[in-house]
Amino acid sequence: MGQTPHKIQCRCGQLEGELTSTVGAMHLACYCRDCQAYAHALGNPGQVLDELGGTDVIATLQHRLRFTKGADSLACLMLSRQGVLRWYASCCNTPIGNTARDPRLSYIGLVHTCMGMPAADLDKEFGTNRVVVNKKDARKPKRDASSASALFAIWRIIGSVVWARLNGSWKKSPFFQPGSTRPVAAPRVLSQEEREQAYEAVLPAK
Ligand SMILES: [Zn+2]
Ligand SMILES: [Zn+2]
Repeated sequence: MGQTPHKIQCRCGQLEGELTSTVGAMHLACYCRDCQAYAHALGNPGQVLDELGGTDVIATLQHRLRFTKGADSLACLMLSRQGVLRWYASCCNTPIGNTARDPRLSYIGLVHTCMGMPAADLDKEFGTNRVVVNKKDARKPKRDASSASALFAIWRIIGSVVWARLNGSWKKSPFFQPGSTRPVAAPRVLSQEEREQAYEAVLPAK
């Protein structure tokens, strides 16, 4: 954990970039049905989801990320019109990260598939213990991470988002046109049929 950049890349190597600082980054795992449906929509659930349907993400801020190669393969999917922007590399359908539609909320959840290491090694790299969110949708009850530590982690992220908004660093996001709220790639919303298929593929919680 520190100022050392962490390399970001898609599976095929066409898209490359770096997380310029890992300070304040946090390892989360989200078990919500939306994240699970997204993995099915991209057609690679086995590479994205853990055995209980969780997606490991590194929560950080968008301005800490920059793309150094192949940024034109960055594409954006929304499960529905109300959804978050789910960024992926269109060359090989590798999930990259999820952002809000409003760039002033400068949070990004970088999906582990672009971090170049097994999800299990992220704790060592980021010096935090994985915090589980939305565990009610896990395929079996999850009992790690107390809700107090999850709450603390989430408040820490909210604090850094508020700070990035106040000091203007949200404007340096590589996902939005400079100084505007326009995403660099037009988001594609799943059709009703695609959406139904993706959610039907999600295994029910027990
Ligand atoms: Zn690729
Ligand atoms: Zn989720």
